[in-house]
Amino acid sequence: MGRIIAVTNQKGGVGKTTTSVNLGACLAYIGKKVLLVDIDPQGNATSGAGVEKGDVQQCIYDVLVDDVEVKDTIKQSKVENLDIVPATISLAGAEIELVPTISREVRLKKALEKVKDDYDYIVIDCPPSLGLLTINALTSSDAVIIPVQCEYYALEGLSQLLSTVRLVQKHLNHDLMIDGVLLTMLDARTNLGIQVIEEVKKYFQDKVYRTIIPRNVRLSEAPSHGEPIIIYDAKSRGAEVYLELAKEVAMSG
Ligand code: ADP
Ligand code: MG
Repeated sequence: MGRIIAVTNQKGGVGKTTTSVNLGACLAYIGKKVLLVDIDPQGNATSGAGVEKGDVQQCIYDVLVDDVEVKDTIKQSKVENLDIVPATISLAGAEIELVPTISREVRLKKALEKVKDDYDYIVIDCPPSLGLLTINALTSSDAVIIPVQCEYYALEGLSQLLSTVRLVQKHLNHDLMIDGVLLTMLDARTNLGIQVIEEVKKYFQDKVYRTIIPRNVRLSEAPSHGEPIIIYDAKSRGAEVYLELAKEVAMSG
């Protein structure tokens, strides 16, 4: 049965989408069957994984709001074994449209249950908020990955995220685990990065992944080509580290 992993942090620009796309693609590359689910209305994971938004007839919005089957929204990516449930801007309305609906927090969970057995991993790219979409992701998931950028104020906002995780654990999903905190965009030339690593490790201890993602230009170029890094430049440092992360994640369950 597939392990469902939400990549979440309500802060924008910390590397959620980069991690979702490239962890998903690298898990597929090492032979796992992976479904990448985009639940951010910006749809960056969708385009980053190579799905043209113009080719999307039905997306995760239709699943969440209109009970369309996940299977009917799935697109194939350029990476073998990596499928995608796309998001389009229509999803921006879902946060509000879901509010008065029945079982609004468990809609994604119910939808994913029907495809869970078809995959080894389902990776969910969350929007930069702690609203209903993120709650749906946390309620569906076995584990959470929290990307934290190696910058000033790295820990800011994390207590709010952790208390949301605890609320979901208490009321909606007892099995949810924080699999790990992922340090991203490390600039090894500065002392600041090292300080942030120490600070985050002091706070999260063994919950911090051994793999640390450095800044790598190739990682920031790849999305505009609609290619995960493993396709765009398999020899880059970015591809190396996301492959390392995929192996670390695969080891942990
Ligand atoms: P989020 O989904 O949390 O908003 P993104 O993954 O979209 O964050 O990353 C924000 C920006 O930083 C994007 O332009 C992305 O290409 C870039 N980026 C992310 N990770 C790296 C990295 N390791 N090295 C260089 N650029 C990165
Ligand atoms: Mg994003």
